[in-house]
Amino acid sequence: MKPAKTSPVQIARRGLMLVISSPSGAGKSTIARTLLETDKHIGLSVSVTTRQRRPSEVEAVHYHFKSVREFERLRDSDALLEWAEVHGNFYGTPREPVEQAMAEGRDMLFDIDWQGAQQLQEKMSADVVSIFVLPPTMTELQSRLHRRAEDSEEVIQTRLANSRAEIAHWREYDYVIVNDDLNTAFDAVQSIVKAERLRRDRRHGMFDFVRELLEETPNL
Ligand code: 5GP
Repeated sequence: MKPAKTSPVQIARRGLMLVISSPSGAGKSTIARTLLETDKHIGLSVSVTTRQRRPSEVEAVHYHFKSVREFERLRDSDALLEWAEVHGNFYGTPREPVEQAMAEGRDMLFDIDWQGAQQLQEKMSADVVSIFVLPPTMTELQSRLHRRAEDSEEVIQTRLANSRAEIAHWREYDYVIVNDDLNTAFDAVQSIVKAERLRRDRRHGMFDFVRELLEETPNL
């Protein structure tokens, strides 16, 4: 019996654009970090921002930190796939790394707000899978922001005030997760990624696999 040449595990597919949004403090960044650590097939889209770097953040790892002038230059030269003003600062997704990843069938993770999610959805809806992360309670959201202790009280208050507006967009996402327990929430994200990678419409290599499968015993 002639085995199919295309291995089922290597069937080529389009890259996935996994978008995760949530109000600040709902745990989205922790979920994103855990996913990047455990899943070697997904890379992070590192955004550019005009926000001040936090002490724990590293240039080009967490963000590309830019002046407003530099940001505007990137935006105006169409180097950003999407951009938005969030909590009084500019944030944007560099276009080139995303286009390269998609062309090579690699998956990418986007930790962006609802405005960015909307723009990606409009431009590349076939490749976008979006997840919204909710906190279990608003009180918990508040205490998580304080526990992080990396922002001033003023910044925390702005973020809390903005969280309602962010939450109002939850219905625009494909999946919604309540982050009561981090392990459970992360488990849910892993399940989503696993299932979305198996979607028929993403696996263009399946055509060859099925053709070879049927050619294996042509007289059957
Ligand atoms: P933070 O300042 O806490 O790192 O991020 C603030 C908010 O900006 C978060 O909701 C985060 O998801 C969002 N954000 C980060 N990068 C981008 C980006 O490139 N585009 C958009 N639209 N939002 C972003």
